[in-house]
Amino acid sequence: MSRSEAAAPFLLFLVLSCSFSVAVLAASTYPYKEQKQTLNVAGGGMGGGAAATTESKRYEGSSDLVNLRYHMGPVLSSPIKIHLIWYGRWAASDQRVIRDFILSVSDTSVPKPSVAQWWSTVALYTDQTGANITRSVVISREYTDAGYSKGTRLTRLSIQQIIQHAVAASADRAVDHKNGIYLVLTSRDVAVQEFCRAVCGFHYFTFPSIVGYTLPYAWVGNSGTQCPDVCAYPFAVPAYMAGGGPKALRPPNGDVGLDGMVSVIAHELAELSSNPLVNAWYAGEDPTAPTEIGDLCEGLYGTGGGGGYTGQVLSDRKGRQYNMNGRGGRKFLVQWVWSPVLKACAGPNALD
Ligand SMILES: [Zn+2]
Repeated sequence: MSRSEAAAPFLLFLVLSCSFSVAVLAASTYPYKEQKQTLNVAGGGMGGGAAATTESKRYEGSSDLVNLRYHMGPVLSSPIKIHLIWYGRWAASDQRVIRDFILSVSDTSVPKPSVAQWWSTVALYTDQTGANITRSVVISREYTDAGYSKGTRLTRLSIQQIIQHAVAASADRAVDHKNGIYLVLTSRDVAVQEFCRAVCGFHYFTFPSIVGYTLPYAWVGNSGTQCPDVCAYPFAVPAYMAGGGPKALRPPNGDVGLDGMVSVIAHELAELSSNPLVNAWYAGEDPTAPTEIGDLCEGLYGTGGGGGYTGQVLSDRKGRQYNMNGRGGRKFLVQWVWSPVLKACAGPNALD
């Protein structure tokens, strides 16, 4: 499509809506952006700038344009046991923030609006037996790969090799095939194929030929020094939006890259749970470029969001923005997800 100056306010959404493509079935030259953009508009027929404005409208409740469908595959209905892989060098304090977010998913004792409340929208999705996505998410094991076993420039396939390496290096190789998933997190000095250009994270499933069996996995990178304006929005905004556009928000845990990562982790966990084998919940006809429940709500964090506006969020005493509480008094700013009941994006801080 042509990227005219006039379209600038909407471009952010195009960039972001392609940021989490899970089109890993395809070769590295796969045209993620072109593909996603067409698929996002169910019913099709619109091109270029028209598609851009249509996309922004869907955040305002125009649900007719969203054709999210169930493709008969499984969802993660059993308690989710996360095998967490820290790739590269990680500060313990950063790890605590991410752990706290993950463990907040099933912590219903946290005051509202809470992460658990946010996940309750994800848990509305069912499989063909009527079983809902689980509300239980635990970290069953952590692996560290501080020696960068696959280097600092990774391909998509390297992520599976990192998983294989972590599993092989651990003494106890028993893995629960039924409900385990891998979450690979790369430190800010690690470059990943398509990171910052087409993806901020992705999810897929492991191949027996590499890992030895098939389990869903997700990868998320820390974009702090590489492309915060792309992958840590809205804590950083693209240069073309500076000036008249929305201002960057202040990250609730004080770290643009890390706080941005939390929202991408949330996005990927939601999609991995509702589409773990890429044959359950997604919009569009092409499973190599599915539009999933997080993709539909990218850039939206509160009521009234859309068209480059995040929506109404909360501020803490230090003036830092958030939209949900986590365990231990933590606060997070996490994008909303598509509700199959409301047929709209939903989040715990909704005002209506
Ligand atoms: Zn996505």
